[in-house]
Formats: sequence, C-alpha cells, structure tokens
Amino acid sequence: MSSLPTTEERRTARVFLNRLTKRYPDISTALEYRDPWQLLVATVLSAQTTDENVNKVTPGLFERYPTAEDLASGDPEDVERIIFSTGYYRQKTRSIIELAGDIVERFGGEVPDEMEKLVELRGVGRKTASVVLAEVWGIPAIAVDTHVKRVANRLGLTADSDPVRIERDLKALYPTERWASVSMCFINFGRQVCDARRPRCWECPLRDRCAYEDKAVRPER
Ligand code: SF4
Repeated sequence: MSSLPTTEERRTARVFLNRLTKRYPDISTALEYRDPWQLLVATVLSAQTTDENVNKVTPGLFERYPTAEDLASGDPEDVERIIFSTGYYRQKTRSIIELAGDIVERFGGEVPDEMEKLVELRGVGRKTASVVLAEVWGIPAIAVDTHVKRVANRLGLTADSDPVRIERDLKALYPTERWASVSMCFINFGRQVCDARRPRCWECPLRDRCAYEDKAVRPER
C-alpha cells in the first residue's frame, strides 16, 4: 500500500483496531521497569521469549548492574548466568553490554528520547525504539515485530514484508494517537489468535473482513 490509503481502507483498518482494543483494553507492556534504561534492556531481552520470563531475571540484573555504566563494564559470564533463562543468553549478553557502552559513550548514560538517536545504539532497531518511545514518553510510534508484520499482512493492511515500509503503511492508516495501541494490540492478537502456523480463524473477531485467503477451519476433535 505505497499510495495514500482510501477512505474505505482507513475505515476497515479502524474497525480492526476498534475490535482489538475492546479485547485488549490495557495496552501497556507487561515488562516491568523503573526507568527508560531498564525498559530498553528488558525489551532487548524479550526477543524470542515471554515478558514474564524477562521479569524474572531483570530485578537481579538491575540490582547487580543498576546503571548503564555498571553494565558497560560488567563481566559477560556473570551477566550470562543472570539472564540465562531468557534464551539466546550469549547473544543477549553481548547486546546489552554493547548497548550500555554506547549509551555511556554517546549519550552520557541517559537513554535518548528520539527515534533517530535510539536506532544508533547497537542492538536497538526501530521496533525496540518504538516500544520505548511510546511506553516511556508517550511519543507516537508503531513497533513492527514479527507479529505485527504477520497480522498486518494477513489483514490486508500492507502488502510489504519490510518492517520500515509496514510501519509507514500502518502510520498512514491510523491517526497518531492510536499508533501505540496498533503495536500492542497486534502483538497480543498475533500471539493469542493469529498464530504464525495455526491461526485460530474460526474464533477470530476480525474474520469477516480479514483478507487472508488460507483461513483455518476449526480442527476436528
Ligand atoms: S481470520 Fe485468521 S488470518 Fe485473519 S486475522 Fe483472524 S486469525 Fe488471522
């Protein structure tokens, strides 16, 4: 959807979001954090795991390494041990230590509140940056992760596979004040209903207007 969306496309997009916000009225993240720095690290750790798993390790991590400066000079083996249960622990350890180093060196230990600066940090893509901007500062942003990408494509809100262009298409469909809820609703909905391999189309509240051609039927019991 590279050209401007039509009125009908905007209307359909709004219907989808209205139904989803009824289902997910609380759009804030389930990640627990006390400041932007903690949310940034928690968001990086949340890749390929649940927010609940991240919440189990972050109190211990931030007690041992309270600031970006502390983590920047952290012992990788110690950090690996603390975050082990979130999976991909070696890669994540490297990411958060590098991220801490970048924040200290480039931004004096403070998390920047601008998309262009956030994405300069190693390990921070537009998705993570969008979560932090929307959640901490209420700055309108749409985070496109694997769930948002899949749901937006199946619903026919975009025909693109590139996250930056999907973000652009979704932003064109929704007013800025709804951008944060687009991400959070689509992420929850993608996890619970519009699953990658087994979408639960038979009980989907968006089924009547969904553009996906291979809608799943209820499995035999
Ligand atoms: S009908 Fe199926 S493919 Fe379409 S949004 Fe619902 S679960 Fe996803």
